[in-house]
Amino acid sequence: VRAMLVLGTRPEAIKLAPVARAMTASELFEPVVVTTGQHREMLHQMLDLLQVPERTALDVMRERQELSTLTARLVDGLGEVIRARRPDVVLVQGDTTTALTGALAAFYEHVPVAHVEAGLRTGVLDNPFPEELNRRLIGRVARWHFAPTPRAAAHLVAEGIPASEVFTTGNTVIDNLLWVLEKGTGRSHFTGADGLRRVLLTLHRRENQGDTMRGMGRAIRRLADRGDVEILLPLHKSPAVRDALLPELTGHPRVRVVEPLGYLDFSATLAACDLVLTDSGGVQEEAPALGKPALVLRTTTERPEAVEAGAARLVGTVPEVILAAVERLLDSPADYERMATAGNPFGDGHATDHIVAQLAEDFGADADAAPV
Ligand code: UDP
Repeated sequence: VRAMLVLGTRPEAIKLAPVARAMTASELFEPVVVTTGQHREMLHQMLDLLQVPERTALDVMRERQELSTLTARLVDGLGEVIRARRPDVVLVQGDTTTALTGALAAFYEHVPVAHVEAGLRTGVLDNPFPEELNRRLIGRVARWHFAPTPRAAAHLVAEGIPASEVFTTGNTVIDNLLWVLEKGTGRSHFTGADGLRRVLLTLHRRENQGDTMRGMGRAIRRLADRGDVEILLPLHKSPAVRDALLPELTGHPRVRVVEPLGYLDFSATLAACDLVLTDSGGVQEEAPALGKPALVLRTTTERPEAVEAGAARLVGTVPEVILAAVERLLDSPADYERMATAGNPFGDGHATDHIVAQLAEDFGADADAAPV
């Protein structure tokens, strides 16, 4: 079975990596990876995780291009690759423009689509923009919907997708995290100075960029003034993120700003931290799996499971409120302990097994068989 994995951003590579590795190891699947370069540099850091020798790269990224132009170029480029390679199935992950255009291009070529991490919803069509729309549109196109949680599966069924096409699998991000920690080759980037609480910070979301993110930078700077914290910020490559955060956070003795970390080191750093501040989707899933309280710097989340479990907290985007929430947690050992032991609702590390087994079953052992 020729399986084409389409990916363009760091989290897509991370979350499709275990699927790619399982397919490479299997007798049945021949995986091919197509990269769109949506986050070129950070994606390249992650490609080794996939262990797929065969890769095709599109060259459609231009500086400051409109979303409509990017979308058109991607559909065009991916359509061409799909016509040339004739995959039996196209896999897309999550909610990026790459994932949407991968699904669309496959649909136009009559190739069935498998959607990994299906069914996440905020319920607000343009929040996050454009991801919520992307997810919903991919949901209309896909033939396999691999939902990470029962709630995600329920969203899909409520939208009229046949329950027989929806599979609750857990999130592959947990599979990859457990795999990489077992390898044990990453290293923490905290200095580990005595008595300091280690705070890992990541920020990148489009809807936070600009004044909101500058305010977050101010809140973090004030947090660092406490004196008992070590804050580490692996800084996203987006120029808008750099413009917002660098002026506030450069030069403070207890804030270390570094380039994005490779996944092995990032995972080791996460495992070594005491507390996570983030607006990232993936980090919101990984932190609870390692018992690290996560304060989410957003007003909404498509991953309410961790908030409901008590492992994560939505603290919004207002600087004073963020600062107060962090300080409360740092100053209350009982509250901290509750969050740290709340558990992980995103799966047991076997999502990939479910996904690959389901595809194998539907294709049968015969590589030329069409899906049922
Ligand atoms: N990550 C990484 N290096 C970093 C920061 C994050 O490898 O310096 C990983 C992290 O483990 C997680 C993923 O990148 O799996 C999250 O990506 P991002 O926050 O860019 O996107 P989102 O998950 O919000 O879509």
